[in-house]
Amino acid sequence: MIIDVHTHLSTREQWGKVFVEAFDRGYTGYTGIDLEVTPEIHWEAVAAVSRAIVFGINSIALGMHTPNDAIAAYAKAHPEKIIGFMSIDPNDPAALDELDRCVNDLVLKGIKMSPVYQHYDPNGDKARRVHRRAEELGLPILTHAAYHIIANTPMEWANPLLYDPVAREFPNLKIILAHIGLPWYTDAMVMIRKHPNVFADVSGGVPLRPWWGYQALAFCHENRVMHKLLFGSDFPIATIEETIDALRTANRFAEGTGMPQVPAEDIEDLIHRDSLSLLGLD
Ligand SMILES: [Zn+2]
Repeated sequence: MIIDVHTHLSTREQWGKVFVEAFDRGYTGYTGIDLEVTPEIHWEAVAAVSRAIVFGINSIALGMHTPNDAIAAYAKAHPEKIIGFMSIDPNDPAALDELDRCVNDLVLKGIKMSPVYQHYDPNGDKARRVHRRAEELGLPILTHAAYHIIANTPMEWANPLLYDPVAREFPNLKIILAHIGLPWYTDAMVMIRKHPNVFADVSGGVPLRPWWGYQALAFCHENRVMHKLLFGSDFPIATIEETIDALRTANRFAEGTGMPQVPAEDIEDLIHRDSLSLLGLD
């Protein structure tokens, strides 16, 4: 059984002009990635996994808007496979009302958050009220604790270490640091080793940056935190197949050298991790 904890469902229009322009400049030219994801495209993309967590991103600052209702409708159409997460913007004055609506009316199971895209301090009062409610309701958060190339994004709120005070204040809140903190995998490792309810997903970073990905995996293995890494693709940024292939071939950099190998069984355990039970979602 393979569970993908990180997939997107947004059209180019819903990603918003600022994000799409930056992405096209920084990635599409050399990767050919198409940001357009409809329910039909998403459904085809997740054929290889048993379960997939899906979300959009809502950001007042960047003009990103995927209605939580659209995520809920898609999840409801495929209850055996799709788990919908809401996107809540802490800068929205009605953030907690929307959170409650997403839980009670839309039956969404977690929250996608992003200090970088949504322009908020993870330790500020606006974020703390969302984190507090999420902990109370048992909703895991998946947060983009990683960099981005959009010029108008606050990198001072991107680093995984910012979640140390969050995890201390809300020790029962399940937190997934996306992309192993790309590029700060050392800081992501500190968080997942230190806090029982903090995890990291391997999405995006490993297939798109294989040398960086190998180093991140080798470092996590050396520090005995492989069991805290969750499988995720970040579709459409990478496909599930590309991500599995990148994980299984990560050790090629070490072949014929003295550099450490990540045991193949640890890689397979990561690919087949039962992340839903770790997140309290099964
Ligand atoms: Zn993502």
